[in-house]
Amino acid sequence: MRNRRFGRGLVSLGLTALVVLQSVGAGAWGNEGHVAINRVAAEHIPTTMPRFLRRAVVEIAYLGPEPDRWRSPSEFALKNAQEADHYIDLERVSWLDPLPPGRYEFYRKLYEKRAATPATDHPDDYLPERVGLQPYITMEVYGRLKAAFREYRQRQAAHQPTQAVQQAIIFYAGWLGHYVADASQPLHTTIHYNGWVGPNPNGYTTEHTIHGQFESAYVAANITAKDFAGLVKSPERLDDPFARYVAYLKQSNGMVENVYALEKAGGFTGKGSPAAFDFTTHRLAAGSQMLLDLWYTAWMESASAALPEHAPAPPPTK
Ligand SMILES: [Zn+2]
Repeated sequence: MRNRRFGRGLVSLGLTALVVLQSVGAGAWGNEGHVAINRVAAEHIPTTMPRFLRRAVVEIAYLGPEPDRWRSPSEFALKNAQEADHYIDLERVSWLDPLPPGRYEFYRKLYEKRAATPATDHPDDYLPERVGLQPYITMEVYGRLKAAFREYRQRQAAHQPTQAVQQAIIFYAGWLGHYVADASQPLHTTIHYNGWVGPNPNGYTTEHTIHGQFESAYVAANITAKDFAGLVKSPERLDDPFARYVAYLKQSNGMVENVYALEKAGGFTGKGSPAAFDFTTHRLAAGSQMLLDLWYTAWMESASAALPEHAPAPPPTK
């Protein structure tokens, strides 16, 4: 659930809905979905990757929901700073193609757009924290993982102890899984994140309940890791991780209407429908697959030496 905007709809929620949402947790894919996506990816780590990582399935699974544990009002600064990491409203940045590879260039473009937007067209909708920062946090954690893999390789080559860097790698790998999983949930990529907004010719629900119903209540009651583990294949090395990740986000955004159509047909109610099961297991598998591909790519790329500190930045990716 996206707490920052969740507040807007809170007053309109009935007490019953509130109790349901609280009882199923406040995380994208819910606790169960995040654990399952990380677990399935970890179980597919190939033998060409370090053995300590293949053995860390329990730790990596635990870390799936970790960033959702950072969203309590009891840690205000933390909650405030990272709330926007869980989503991106791609409809709001359709004019910005390709997305810039660094977050500060992204901020600058959004502030320019905001300044050029008339007051009647909700310029604040272009604030970075409203649009969301999904692909940026993901690539930043990916970068941490790759740097840690490189450190591991160097220490191993120098016959130095590696236990501490192993712990860092496991943490980064598990943490990365959270955002990659969020992005496979179509409602984390859209302005329609929790109830259809704007023109609605198909009569999709406008209630602020579909997000939690789909990703938390339905998944927790009906799907386990084994239901989608078989859909995940051996990892692929990604030639351009940022571009591939943005394409993955756009693919997920292309399925927003599917979620609403399934909800309208009762697919996520109770035991749900076969179509809802098929759709959801494939989205969960897509999350595990992208996570596995990113781990594998970070590992492979970490074999190359780090660039010198003042090397010029690579050109923007397409
Ligand atoms: Zn999240």
